[in-house]
Amino acid sequence: MLKVKTMVLKVVTELLKRFLTCTFIILFCCEYLIYNIVIYQCSWPLLKQQGSFRNGEFIDKSQNVKALLLSDPHLLGSQHGHWFDKLRREWQMKKSFQTAMNYFQPEVVFILGDIFDEGMICDDEEWQQYVVRFHDIFYRTNDVQLFVVPGNHDIGFHYRMTGKSQLSKRFEKDFNVTGVNLLNLKGNVFVLLNSMALEQDGCALCEKAEQELKQVSSQLKCLHKDKLMFNFWRKQCVLAPFMSDPVLLQHFPLYRSSEVNCTGRDSPPLERRYIENREGWEVLSQSASELLMTSLQPRAIFGGHTHHSCQVLHQGNIPEFTLPSFSWRNRNDPSFLMATFNPNAYSVGRCFLPEENTVIFLYISLGFCSLFYIFWNSFRRKFYRSQLYRTRIFDHREPVKIC
Ligand SMILES: [Zn+2]
Repeated sequence: MLKVKTMVLKVVTELLKRFLTCTFIILFCCEYLIYNIVIYQCSWPLLKQQGSFRNGEFIDKSQNVKALLLSDPHLLGSQHGHWFDKLRREWQMKKSFQTAMNYFQPEVVFILGDIFDEGMICDDEEWQQYVVRFHDIFYRTNDVQLFVVPGNHDIGFHYRMTGKSQLSKRFEKDFNVTGVNLLNLKGNVFVLLNSMALEQDGCALCEKAEQELKQVSSQLKCLHKDKLMFNFWRKQCVLAPFMSDPVLLQHFPLYRSSEVNCTGRDSPPLERRYIENREGWEVLSQSASELLMTSLQPRAIFGGHTHHSCQVLHQGNIPEFTLPSFSWRNRNDPSFLMATFNPNAYSVGRCFLPEENTVIFLYISLGFCSLFYIFWNSFRRKFYRSQLYRTRIFDHREPVKIC
């Protein structure tokens, strides 16, 4: 009896050992290795123009800025979404972001809004927890700069933002942004905008943003002065003529009537493409878009909000990139952009993250292989030790009777 018990215990321990080993291997492959393998295949886009003059100044490699751009991570809050959903999506985003940071070491990261899913409805206590979680997921070393713009899920659409001004105040305080921010990185000029403050209805936040936009616009005029005029206006100018035209970063895309011109594997689904976009909801209003184009004259525009990818041209030669969501909750195939900027040129590339379907398929396949390995081995041993096996050997060895 004792012998049988010992035997059973031995078999159970063996099975448990195998089960734990297989579980560890599956988790390692599906939650760690796959991110490294997929993201490692991406690389920085190369600039076509290396070393050139801009308004009499030589622009070399030292003025290149490598930027990583992503949008709509939608960190889940306490009201919507299951705890497991939150745990899984945040792990996926953290792992992808940290892997990208390790491999590519960008100089700057831009997150284009809707950082939080419930930023516009959560209380101050939850907001603080949200901010801590954000910095944990999007952790970066001190040499990497991080800039964010607010999205409608962070501070509400225009009507909510103006009704509850504390929503935008706490965002501005914790992320150090205002309505319009001008940024100069090695001569590459960026303008960061609060899209919800561009309603042009005379609200306090809108008026403030319009004032800031005017100031930024007048600063940008310095970029187009010739050397003589620039020297004359030097005291008023924070930007110099050799610096780049601005890159516009905001949450909403500029106005477009629909998504019909968006194409590509992660563009909006066919049934969505033909639905008319509403001004101030899916896209910025026509008048605000025109105001931005005339006051800033950007060389490129980046936005998010729709959760799908899109690339359109404004005025025939100014590209606008709409970034898809970075969260697997919103897409099966999230991605981020890798862009190299220099005052004379820029280049943009896309890095896709592992597809969730692939991860699920990997879990199922490895799970079946593991079960086969665990139980087949024990069956095999049982079989070899069994009476049946011994009998067969004995039968086989029995001498053949000839007569
Ligand atoms: Zn949004």
